[in-house]
Amino acid sequence: MKNAQCKKCLNKFNQKDIYTIQQFQYRKEPNYEWSVNYFKKIGISEWDSFCEGCMLFYSKESEKEWNSKI
Ligand SMILES: [Zn+2]
Repeated sequence: MKNAQCKKCLNKFNQKDIYTIQQFQYRKEPNYEWSVNYFKKIGISEWDSFCEGCMLFYSKESEKEWNSKI
């Protein structure tokens, strides 16, 4: 059943396919604290749901931002 919705593209998808920014805990750089702050600034919390594509987009965007700051 497609009962989850991506906050960005608004597509519906299966609950089990939800991605959140919490997955960035496992990313070495940028560190998680930085990531949480970055997403907070653009209005995204640790509990917001995203589809895989949009999470990949934000992953790249945040890396770009991180790289421009160092
Ligand atoms: Zn999406």
